[in-house]
Amino acid sequence: MEHIPFFAPDLSEEDAAAAAAVLRSGWITTGPVTARFERAVADFCRADRAVCLSSQTAAAELVLRLLGIGPGDEVLLPAYTYTATCSVVCHVGAVPVLIDCAPGRFTMDENALEAAVTPRTKAIIPVDFAGIPCDCRRLTALAGAKRGCFSPASPLQEALGRIAVVADASHSLGGSRDGLPCGSLADFTCFSFHAVKNLTTAEGGAVVWRDLPGADNDALERRLRLLSLHGQSRSAFEKQEGDWEYDVLFPGYKCNMTDLAAALGLSQLGRYPSMLARRKALIRRYDDALSDLPLELPRHFEPGVSSSGHLYPIRLYGFSEEERGKAIAALCRAGVSCNVHYKPLPMLTAYRCLGFSICDFPNAYAMYQNEVTLPLYSAMSDAQADWAAEALHKILQ
Ligand SMILES: *Cc1c(COP(=O)(O)O)cnc(C)c1O
Repeated sequence: MEHIPFFAPDLSEEDAAAAAAVLRSGWITTGPVTARFERAVADFCRADRAVCLSSQTAAAELVLRLLGIGPGDEVLLPAYTYTATCSVVCHVGAVPVLIDCAPGRFTMDENALEAAVTPRTKAIIPVDFAGIPCDCRRLTALAGAKRGCFSPASPLQEALGRIAVVADASHSLGGSRDGLPCGSLADFTCFSFHAVKNLTTAEGGAVVWRDLPGADNDALERRLRLLSLHGQSRSAFEKQEGDWEYDVLFPGYKCNMTDLAAALGLSQLGRYPSMLARRKALIRRYDDALSDLPLELPRHFEPGVSSSGHLYPIRLYGFSEEERGKAIAALCRAGVSCNVHYKPLPMLTAYRCLGFSICDFPNAYAMYQNEVTLPLYSAMSDAQADWAAEALHKILQ
């Protein structure tokens, strides 16, 4: 068996042909193909709207700006996540409030979350770790229960009347909870189509939402598009054929999706159900092959929840951080590349400099110190999964 990479993209001849067709069409940046991909993403999630952008990071930042969140505001998010979940809070000038994991879980402790709410709290950003959708409706209920101490500072905050739930669904496109797909669970949901995610446009992301009662949703969508394209009243596509006139309504950002990327996304979305089924089959295969080892396996198949199967995180019982490092090195020597998801934010220089200390996040540290993420991707073969499981057996003996 050759070396098993941690990740390999799942790109078909049809994906390549779809991208090539855009290259030959005479229009490669934001235009009709992006609009079609947006419709397809919204329909797939049973949401009303989707705006495609250059990344999940851009999507989350624009949603915070749309909500009017900035200096003086606080945003609650897990300590156990990738930096992008938090950096956008810093970008808009708000204060990130990190929440520890629930004991033995990769997700936020609900009691700690509730205790962290103050009159300055404007949003919660839950992370659908490994593709398992968070219980966003429980979070909106918590936000509703706290509405007495919420002081809205923008028309959208006023329309919501409570703390906003902005899901980081970078891992969970195609997941669902209680029959509702990711994209229709939170107030706003931000997806990533980065190269290593389940569905890719090389780089890309999207904001999707169900129309919010009491808000002018057409205006919200228009505002998001303006934010993503310099605040320019008409896009390059709309200005073709001599009709050049335009205005700039405010100095906006630049994070629109290209038609080239959208063509890849549309093609991938067409076969995404089979890609998800492939991930689930590999997860079952790992679950069976590893069930006799002293490991905690991921919980991709809990009642009422359908995971997108993005990651396969295991925990090596009793391992210290150092022993875990040796196990990853041994797996690598056996031809299996693994990873760690995630180094908690308080352990990273950027967040230590903001005053966070891992000592205040003991549950996150406990999850991190013995976590190993095994290779999992839809282009992976059964033989590769069996080989990875075999290598783990040898190393743990
Ligand atoms: C990948 C990822 C992001 C960032 O996605 P981009 O599209 O690269 O901006 C954010 N949060 C999590 C949890 C991720 O895994």
